[in-house]
Amino acid sequence: MSVLIFVDQTENHIKKSSFEVLTYGVKLAAQIGTTAEALVLGTVNDDLAALGKYGVTKVHQVANETLNHVDTQLYAKVIAEAATATAATVIVMSHNQTGKAIAARVSARLKAGLVTAAIALPDTSTSFTVKRAVFSGKAFANVSIATAIKVISLNPNSFHVSIGEGTAAVLALNVAVDTSKIIVKAVHKVSGEVPLTEADIVVSAGRGLKGPENWGMIEELAHELHAAKACSRPVADSDWRPHHEHVGQTGVQIAPNLYIAIGISGAIQHLAGVNRSKVIVVINKDPEAPFFKAADYGIVGDAFEVVPQLTAEIKKMHNS
Ligand SMILES: Cc1cc2nc3c(=O)[nH]c(=O)nc-3n(C[C@H](O)[C@H](O)[C@H](O)COP(=O)(O)OP(=O)(O)OC[C@H]3O[C@@H](n4cnc5c(N)ncnc54)[C@H](O)[C@@H]3O)c2cc1C
Repeated sequence: MSVLIFVDQTENHIKKSSFEVLTYGVKLAAQIGTTAEALVLGTVNDDLAALGKYGVTKVHQVANETLNHVDTQLYAKVIAEAATATAATVIVMSHNQTGKAIAARVSARLKAGLVTAAIALPDTSTSFTVKRAVFSGKAFANVSIATAIKVISLNPNSFHVSIGEGTAAVLALNVAVDTSKIIVKAVHKVSGEVPLTEADIVVSAGRGLKGPENWGMIEELAHELHAAKACSRPVADSDWRPHHEHVGQTGVQIAPNLYIAIGISGAIQHLAGVNRSKVIVVINKDPEAPFFKAADYGIVGDAFEVVPQLTAEIKKMHNS
């Protein structure tokens, strides 16, 4: 009996969302009186023993290069087999792009109850009840899992990461990795950009910018902050910006530490994709813009005046 924490990687490095899941899994294991162990798929260049700092005692690795690329069916099969091999009773992963695609598959393979988008540790006093976000974070549901094996995916930015001391034992896990039905022939990446779903800081702009020719100041601010760029849906629909930058209910859903929204009204469909950001800064010339209600900090002003001044101040800070 143990809690198995799936530690997600990209380009041979552990994803930051995994650190939060590690903390969650370790606290959950302590709560139910068992051990927490991590599972890493593929080859990883980071020091896996250092994951002990998050409280796991063992890191199981299936170091097969086929697993360096996410193939949801193969991942689900390997994770389910790893869970069985390690006698895990709870499997925890992030509710990120990968987790969204594999959590249900893992639960089906293990005949396990599943709670996705969890936002808190389960209440295990009388049952195993997990709080999750529903309706794009507008409401909460408490879901009880009655099966012996349980799968939980954790909403990013729901849990504070705790780091301590410790070293984990890194163990090779012998799980058969079938030849995938999917063959990765090439990987095309948007070069030189911070990936939106992994970014700590996101600079986003909307129709208030009037046209694509005005995005230079957004790019400059994003560059200074080492931030990813995003936009509202009408901006992508009008081809001012590429569709992979569109955030919201029908676009990419993100949870950065800092989201800067410039010339975006704050429609509910936009907020649905960004309201899990830790800190929201809104720049809008209309003091009545709905986005200010969701903001931690607001600047009422013309973006064409505010943004260049903000960038200049940040540049000064970097140079001092
Ligand atoms: C089913 C459905 C799904 C949708 N999904 C999404 C989604 O995923 N993502 C999304 O974004 N939208 C989505 N929408 C659209 C959404 O309802 C809004 O229409 C959209 O978010 C508005 O985009 P905007 O804020 O950029 O533009 P506007 O609503 O036009 O707002 C522009 C804002 O810029 C401000 N402004 C203007 N000039 C300046 C200036 N010089 N300086 C500073 N501020 C200025 C204005 O005060 C205004 O608040 C969806 C709609 C539907 C019906």
